[in-house]
Amino acid sequence: MSQTTTAAGITLPCPMCGEAEASIDLNLSTKTFGCCECGTDFELEDLRAILARWAKVLAWVDAMPGA
Ligand SMILES: [Zn+2]
Repeated sequence: MSQTTTAAGITLPCPMCGEAEASIDLNLSTKTFGCCECGTDFELEDLRAILARWAKVLAWVDAMPGA
């Protein structure tokens, strides 16, 4: 299992630069992501932290009466 572990870019919103259709590379050996648009690397934990913030907002909106 020594093949290259950088997956082809997947198109997702970049949490770093905000590009909606960013090409994101996933490096499986380091479990890091790299945005081809802004060149920023970020880790799974960074992504989890961002998603956790949004999850709180979603839960709050869902809990609003009449939403
Ligand atoms: Zn980016």
